[in-house]
Amino acid sequence: MNEFSLRKNIIKYSKLLNQTNLSPLRSGNISARYKDGFLITPSGVKYKNLKPKDIVFVNLKGIFKKGKNKPSSEWKLHKDIYLDKINSKAIVHCHSKHALILSCFKKKIPPFHYMVAVAGGEDIKCAKYATYGTSELSKNIIKALNERSACLIENHGQVSFSNSLPEAFELAQEVEYLSEQYLGCLRTGKPKILSKSQMQKVLLKVKNYKQD
Ligand SMILES: [Zn+2]
Repeated sequence: MNEFSLRKNIIKYSKLLNQTNLSPLRSGNISARYKDGFLITPSGVKYKNLKPKDIVFVNLKGIFKKGKNKPSSEWKLHKDIYLDKINSKAIVHCHSKHALILSCFKKKIPPFHYMVAVAGGEDIKCAKYATYGTSELSKNIIKALNERSACLIENHGQVSFSNSLPEAFELAQEVEYLSEQYLGCLRTGKPKILSKSQMQKVLLKVKNYKQD
């Protein structure tokens, strides 16, 4: 995809953040890998007003042009995920309601449902809290993303990455649905959790399905 199409795509999915259940107002941010860096939503601009030229390019050393728009204040977590996960092409970070509620209780999402495997492991971890925009937060997120492509972020929200923007967006939505369902289970009592071997079978199927 060329640069202009990528910029337009980032705007399309930023607007979808607002229109779906993922992030209200200006919260959340979206990026796509491009050349030796990534294109990311700017800081402090309402998504409905975004123009392709407002999307900011940041290289993997964290350098960006001093222009009208600054990259999202959370650009470091995007940079550090692109550096650590060489196959990542797009990242969606948001403060979706149910993922956020779970994160405030430091709760990971256990395998209460086999769909938890969509993030790549038998559970979806919760990264330890650190101030937004810091390298410390990136470090905690990378740790929670070990062998995973999504995690919750304590007292903050969630982040997902994938091979493309539509896939990263869908994964973020899946994490939000799973969080909502798990919270529903917790309200009723203690849900049955799938065993390691039950989840291993699912993970194998998911892996094969992705290779098909
Ligand atoms: Zn955030």
